[in-house]
Amino acid sequence: MPLDLVTIRCLKDNYAYLLHGPAGTALIDAPEAAPILTELDARGWGLDLILLTHHHDDHIQGVPALVQATGAKVVGAGADSHRLPPLDIAVEADRDFDLLGETVQVIDVPGHTIGHVAFHLPESGMAFTADSLMAMGCGRLFEGTPDQMWQALSRLNALPGDTLICSGHDYCAGNGAFALSVDPDNPALHDRLEALQESRSPCAPAPLSLERATNPFLRVAELRDSLQMPDAPDAQVFAKLRRMKDEF
Ligand code: ZN
Ligand code: FE
Repeated sequence: MPLDLVTIRCLKDNYAYLLHGPAGTALIDAPEAAPILTELDARGWGLDLILLTHHHDDHIQGVPALVQATGAKVVGAGADSHRLPPLDIAVEADRDFDLLGETVQVIDVPGHTIGHVAFHLPESGMAFTADSLMAMGCGRLFEGTPDQMWQALSRLNALPGDTLICSGHDYCAGNGAFALSVDPDNPALHDRLEALQESRSPCAPAPLSLERATNPFLRVAELRDSLQMPDAPDAQVFAKLRRMKDEF
């Protein structure tokens, strides 16, 4: 049985996620406590674990209040423990751990920050990518190089196509507009943007297959000619796209 997934909007444009199953409840990222506690209360759920993807305030600042209210244990990358809230369980990239009876693969996805990890749950078919791979976009490069982010995206892109990509922000409008500007003749992109406008639902989570079809940062091979970089390595084409997005 796949775990139940609940998307919670937090702050201005963050997403947090709850995973729930017979063995308990886990939260991925803690932008703020109030909306998460409200959701837990409404469902009658406790909170057992808080998984952290990276050290930015808008992903961790709800931790103290949530721990105080629920007694949840905090899980994060040991390599980044010096700038994460105190960890009860330190995990390592490329090592699996057990979450609510399911295997979680920890994937190193540096770029937005060094020490950013993604959590992949193969049995439930979900990956929590926060500010690495995002809906129609990817995170800004605050700490890492374009090469590092390109490798991170390539790792995530190797997951099964039906994996639900649960990312950290609702940047749909900006990401969609940029995607359209560099990939204007992509029918899958037009379809996705129209569907989002009609439904007004969150743009994440979305299946990896949809990201492959619409996310410009996964469409380096398709876009290299229009960027006039026919012979450049993929990472260079990616770097150019990322610079264009920064200036968009
Ligand atoms: Zn961030
Ligand atoms: Fe963020």
